[in-house]
Amino acid sequence: MDLNDSPNEAAFRAEVRAFLEAHGPTEDVSSFSSPDEDAVVPRADAWQRTMHAHGWAALAWPKEFGGRGAGPVEQIIWNQELARHAVGMTHHVVGVAMVGPALLYHGTSAQKAQHLERILNADDIWCELFSEPGFGSDLAGVQTRAERDGDEWVVTGQKVWSSGAHRSDYGLALCRTDPAVAKHAGLTAFVIDMRAPGVECRPLRQMTGNAHFNEVFLSEVRVPHDAVVGEVDRGWEVARTVLMHERMALGGIETAFDWGDFAAFVAAHADRVDDIARQDIAQLYVWARSLEFLNARVITKLGRGDVPTAESSIMKLALARLVIEQGRIQMRLLGAAGLGSGDAQLRFLSSPAMKIGGGTDEIQRNIIGERVLGLPRDPG
Ligand SMILES: Cc1cc2nc3c(=O)[nH]c(=O)nc-3n(C[C@H](O)[C@H](O)[C@H](O)COP(=O)(O)OP(=O)(O)OC[C@H]3O[C@@H](n4cnc5c(N)ncnc54)[C@H](O)[C@@H]3O)c2cc1C
Repeated sequence: MDLNDSPNEAAFRAEVRAFLEAHGPTEDVSSFSSPDEDAVVPRADAWQRTMHAHGWAALAWPKEFGGRGAGPVEQIIWNQELARHAVGMTHHVVGVAMVGPALLYHGTSAQKAQHLERILNADDIWCELFSEPGFGSDLAGVQTRAERDGDEWVVTGQKVWSSGAHRSDYGLALCRTDPAVAKHAGLTAFVIDMRAPGVECRPLRQMTGNAHFNEVFLSEVRVPHDAVVGEVDRGWEVARTVLMHERMALGGIETAFDWGDFAAFVAAHADRVDDIARQDIAQLYVWARSLEFLNARVITKLGRGDVPTAESSIMKLALARLVIEQGRIQMRLLGAAGLGSGDAQLRFLSSPAMKIGGGTDEIQRNIIGERVLGLPRDPG
């Protein structure tokens, strides 16, 4: 494991820092978590355009499509520097980091020409229409039907948990096109125009008070055949590309937790740190440092061209626990003063979602059980 940047990595980091210092946002752009979504979204759009204008909008995309052709190590360095500069995740993450790669790998030339540049320039917002009320972990079971009608498909069903769908121009939907074959085999991915007749978004209010995700009802929505992404009945391949990139976009410790911020919070509330809180803070420090080392191991593996496997599941599981514990400690230190509003309450109320989104804790445990411990496969 190498804890230091190589000369190339150090040069790249310096380049990122110079860009962020010159052009980075000076106000909050975290439109995916802010309670003040209406104010933050225009700033997030402006930030996306700034990144695009300077060639930083999509590190991993090929240069011919407006990306930088960068590798995973550069992506991690970029994330670390964003966190250092306190730049939060925006609603463009779905288009840039999840749908974009799916279009790059599986899309037609026409789809790439129509959508990719507009994603980078914040002209279009995208959502992921995968999960359904009965199908999340078992995503291959989705029941939303798409039936062929001449040059069109007719899509009917219900999606849920669709982040940002209420602001989206397009959604990438996973639909069942052949109910007669094995569940993974009869799926197709479609681009859905979120303003087409028959598309209805109902925002769901979360316990944070925000309404960042939605139920999406699709009632006989007519979709042109050229909106199929990849091949008919091979949508599972498209979904896998999206999910793999989603896990990378949700990130490691650098995007979700900052020990410096937490330590500053504790110092500001030092008068409330009793023996129990001291133990909890020390425990959190140990977890955070362990995760940093795991992160460094992942970076080293990536740098050597290896693909980390179970590490990302361990990372996701541990990170959720870390962020939830951070919220709990902060609320305990604040006492009644923490109730009602504020960053600590927002973190406390939003952190349990980390145990669910991007694959639940139990699913990560299944992966670790199978790939690290060699246990029998999940019968599900
Ligand atoms: C903040 C957030 C944003 C999201 N955004 C989107 C989005 O934009 N688009 C989208 O499509 N989806 C989105 N999701 C949905 C997310 O992908 C699903 O919630 C997740 O995959 C779990 O699916 P589920 O909710 O249907 O739970 P289920 O799969 O029904 O699981 C219920 C419980 O059973 C457990 N379980 C299920 N299967 C197994 C198993 N085989 N072994 C052991 N335990 C099991 C689970 O761990 C869980 O505790 C989002 C979720 C969150 C929290």
